[in-house]
Amino acid sequence: MSRINEILEQLDHISQNPKEQLDKFIEEGKKVIGVFPYYVPEELVVACGMVPMGVWGGAKEINKAKEYFASYYCTIAQMNLELGLNGTLDRLSGVIVTTMCDTLRPLSQNFRVGVPQIPFIYLAHPQNRKKEFGIKYSEQVFTRVLNELEEISGKKATEEDLLKAFEIYNANRQEKRRFSKLAALHPEVISATLRSAVFKSSYFMEKEEHTALLKELNNELEKLEVVEWTGTKVMTSGILCDSRKLLKIFDDNKVAIVADDVAHESRTIKVDIDMEIAKKNPMEGLATWFANCDDDVLLYDPTIYSRPRNVAKLAKESGADGAVIVMMQFCDPEEVEYPHLKEALDNESIPSIKLGYDQQMVDFGQAETQIQAFTDVMSL
Ligand code: SF4
Repeated sequence: MSRINEILEQLDHISQNPKEQLDKFIEEGKKVIGVFPYYVPEELVVACGMVPMGVWGGAKEINKAKEYFASYYCTIAQMNLELGLNGTLDRLSGVIVTTMCDTLRPLSQNFRVGVPQIPFIYLAHPQNRKKEFGIKYSEQVFTRVLNELEEISGKKATEEDLLKAFEIYNANRQEKRRFSKLAALHPEVISATLRSAVFKSSYFMEKEEHTALLKELNNELEKLEVVEWTGTKVMTSGILCDSRKLLKIFDDNKVAIVADDVAHESRTIKVDIDMEIAKKNPMEGLATWFANCDDDVLLYDPTIYSRPRNVAKLAKESGADGAVIVMMQFCDPEEVEYPHLKEALDNESIPSIKLGYDQQMVDFGQAETQIQAFTDVMSL
């Protein structure tokens, strides 16, 4: 087996077995912090000597959470609460819950009340993140989160710890961006399923280990000759696109993902922490990183609303034949934006389809028909 396949197999396995990873961390005597979607500065968890693990719902049945949520909340929020209520998250030493959208806000309060056994850290990012007062506010919020993490870990994070954690995450973001480009060049090796697994595995691994494997994978991919892809190339967009059943439909129909605007994958890794700022003041470095994050439906854009155009530009530049918008059911921010995104894609002559999705979906027949029809039209 080639080294590429070995690494892909390892990352794929980890992506499907978060519990195994949690068991390993706990056996190693490490404290693990659950990190809810998204824009949580995980660097703070690492600086305190703990391990962050992503909690982005799951495909299990939702029962207890129905007592807290009406059925029209997205399944990520419902499932994250379910995982707390049914004890799945009990071995975590804490959770960090954000308030980035109107669903995450009630989730945070329901979780706080319904799951009192897990230490709860509330993270309310500022809307105005770019102005000086917004940066100051982010600094204060991140400092409070850090203080609460220090209490859980029993370890005070030094400036050196923070800067080291920042370097670790910068390196991971850089390798992920590099991987996204290489995956686009080699869809014959990096299927849609494996591409997703590479991103997803990082939520369940210590970042240094993930970066080391990803770097090796990237170096190996770089050595491969580029062969022409005879299938369809697409850009994906949405909050989450990690369903194995859905990705298998991509693979079965020779649909390669050559770029993504997916929150779970590339949306949050576009910029790094400026280490020059961080060396003067670590929290300002982190707050400035958040201020520099852009082109996300969950981030306030105080000027002209440029995100749809930038996403269409990304699709164009990536050489995608079309865009697949994976629309999480009942995700208000994404649904509100959709007409603008569709219009921007149309303006760039990029055909697109919208697939309705939620994590409890079992029947992907409609998605399969849509994807087949889409690839047929594009091959004309
Ligand atoms: S952004 Fe959308 S998918 Fe994510 S938590 Fe909010 S409503 Fe749910």
